[in-house]
Amino acid sequence: MGDTRHTRVLIIGSGPAGYTAAVYSARAMLNPLLIQGLQPGGQLTITTEVENWPGDTHVQGPDLMVRMESHAREMGAEVISDYISALDLSKRPFTAVADSGMTYTADAVILATGAQAKWLGLPSEERFKGFGVSACATCDGFFYRGKEVVVIGGGNTAVEEALFLTNFATKVTLIHRRDTLRAEKIMQDRLFKHPKIELLWNSEVTEVLGSDAPASVTGVRTHNLKTGEIKDVPCHGFFVAIGHAPASELVKDQLPLHNGGYVVVEPGTTRTAIPGVFAAGDLTDHVYRQAVTSAGMGCMAALDAERFLAGGH
Ligand code: FAD
Ligand code: NAP
Repeated sequence: MGDTRHTRVLIIGSGPAGYTAAVYSARAMLNPLLIQGLQPGGQLTITTEVENWPGDTHVQGPDLMVRMESHAREMGAEVISDYISALDLSKRPFTAVADSGMTYTADAVILATGAQAKWLGLPSEERFKGFGVSACATCDGFFYRGKEVVVIGGGNTAVEEALFLTNFATKVTLIHRRDTLRAEKIMQDRLFKHPKIELLWNSEVTEVLGSDAPASVTGVRTHNLKTGEIKDVPCHGFFVAIGHAPASELVKDQLPLHNGGYVVVEPGTTRTAIPGVFAAGDLTDHVYRQAVTSAGMGCMAALDAERFLAGGH
């Protein structure tokens, strides 16, 4: 049996929502504990340039998150490297069990577990994960110096990944299932102008092609949804950038979820269906999903928790 620690406010997650909640609840003298999870700093640690964080025209995602962590620590939050594997919200104090064996009890919980990359769900994608199939160009792009790669998706992430991969690859093919992108116009503009990027519209990937011993990707099989044409696109790396799903596993049987797993909060607040449990950031937001909106919700969650602990609601 591990030890048990009690805290007034337990923050689960170390993205912009979690760290902002930590800054605010520390400044409210609530001595919060923040559990970082497997991805300290959250999703922005797997990107490069962030150009829409107010006050910074250019900032590297990982640098921004290091600064947020320092800020939270300096204000008095305790930041703990651990992962919550079970959470009991059925009675107070709430109980969270961590991978380290530690049990945390808390008077209020702020859920800020964000989102995780989605996969296509193909058996061949699973087979080559880590051997040519990736969901993170920042992490794996370097392996494709002088090689051809394919990116699938049509949102900001896919376009960013494609542009970033031009730093290494000789050619980047972006495959999208429709004929218009969802990404911001400024990003689309950069994509269309790039000489190394080719677009394959109205197409889906039906199989990742490769060989064993050693496991490696040799291409992807595509199906044109308009013409029915089947075409193989040669590549060494296949980057899946089709969006993210909320990380609501911990609470899926305890809190109402909607729109594919996002935690429901009372409109205009971060209050969930259980008094004393608050949710912020991408975990609860299927619409905006930005660093700045997540940070904003982290602030709201800390203020909501402070009010709850003071006896309000
Ligand atoms: P996340 O950043 O998703 O963080 C979730 C945190 O929860 C992680 O620290 C994780 O370790 C932790 N966690 C999860 N489960 C557990 C658990 N069980 N126990 C403990 N901890 C747990 N937005 C912008 O505004 N500008 C951009 O330029 C931009 N670029 C992006 C580029 C990429 C490649 C991606 C993927 C996203 C980008 N976004 C951008 C979106 C932005 O990153 C997210 O909106 C934001 O990070 C969400 O913050 P969050 O705090 O809700 O969660
Ligand atoms: P997203 O906006 O949800 O886009 C996902 C893309 O993948 C869509 O184009 C979608 O196609 C496609 N897709 C989904 N499922 C698919 C499947 N099974 N097969 C093939 N294609 C599929 O996700 P995102 O690009 O990761 O962005 C998530 C959020 O983070 C957004 O709010 C975004 O603005 C934000 N973000 C911001 C920045 C930035 O500001 N620079 C950078 C990255 C991310 P359809 O278009 O047909 O639906």
